Amino acid sequence: MEVKKLYYDDSHLKTFSATVTGCAQAQKGWEITLDATAFYPEGGGQPWDTGKLGDSAVLDVQEKDHNIIHLCDKALPVGSTVTGTIDWERRFDFMQQHSGEHMVSGVIHALYGYHNVGFHMGADVVTIDFDGPIPLDALEKIEDKVNAAIWENLPVRCFYPAEDVLQTLPYRRKKDLPWPVRLVEFPGIDLCACCGTQVKSTGEIGLVKLLSCVKFHEGVRIEMVCGKRAMDLLSRVYEQNRQVSQLFSAKILETGPAAKRINDTLAAEKFRATALEKRLFDYIAQSYAGEKLALHFEENLTPAQNRMLCDAMAKQCGIAVALSGSDKTGYSLCIISRTEDAKALGQQATTLLGGNGGGKREAFQGNLSASAGKIREFFRQIYENEK
Ligand SMILES: [Zn+2]
Repeated sequence: MEVKKLYYDDSHLKTFSATVTGCAQAQKGWEITLDATAFYPEGGGQPWDTGKLGDSAVLDVQEKDHNIIHLCDKALPVGSTVTGTIDWERRFDFMQQHSGEHMVSGVIHALYGYHNVGFHMGADVVTIDFDGPIPLDALEKIEDKVNAAIWENLPVRCFYPAEDVLQTLPYRRKKDLPWPVRLVEFPGIDLCACCGTQVKSTGEIGLVKLLSCVKFHEGVRIEMVCGKRAMDLLSRVYEQNRQVSQLFSAKILETGPAAKRINDTLAAEKFRATALEKRLFDYIAQSYAGEKLALHFEENLTPAQNRMLCDAMAKQCGIAVALSGSDKTGYSLCIISRTEDAKALGQQATTLLGGNGGGKREAFQGNLSASAGKIREFFRQIYENEK
């Protein structure tokens, strides 16, 4: 006997009673079949329902050979009558997303003639793929059209037209289907073949928010959220924005310009700091003017800053050696010379003092793990003129 699909009679049925017609042990639990069920099996882009059958948890629901298999965590006696309860929050979320997807697809089909060629209900967002380009700035118009129809609270009709009638109907479909075909109609918006569960009237969707539209194969992929998901997203985004507005001392809807102002200020400050740094490095370098070797220690320069300082020093002396760090963390090393072989000196230093690095004849950069005392001693043995 074929299972009665109660979710098609009433998409809002949350509890039902049915007779267990089969119970077989499987790898991950028990595969239970019923004479009737309100549990929707995975299909048409819509995930399966979860819930309870008696005191057994329903973990997965799949349709196989005209039967609906409920994967449960406990066995149920064949022939017994059980009460089934579906996780309504989960199901209603899927219905809001699924019905919203139909309306968006219908509006895009009417505006552009494009087809929905892929539909995925993710944990956070729904993605729909279309077979043609849609500019990003068109999303608002599409969204407005869909939401206006949602707020008209139009009745949604699921029906099986007679074979000759079906042939006359301009309905959307991914492929040609054998009769009978289940159609879902959103009046004036969409008519499409569908096997999923739908809301009874468009108002139940609440709202649709299109989030992004990016190039995908020959067309685009649109990300969207509907109903409670849109509300949850609004709450999360609003909370983030509230934090940003507090940090920036900006009104909640003016965080964008405030972020830009702070970015611009940061860039100007960075520019000013670099100019000051350069003046400071030139000042330090001048104190080594005319010396054969200049050995200089700093504590907190980045390797790039250390290099800049060394460059400035090298303009004033024979060999410039700049080090930044501490005995505890080790030192970043830069050697620059216009007259001597900086690379050979660097290699000698890293070999004898422990460290690594590389470079060319004029400049060597690396790290040393020895103490400042040992480093001074090494260079003192070569040249006396250090500071
Ligand atoms: Zn559908």
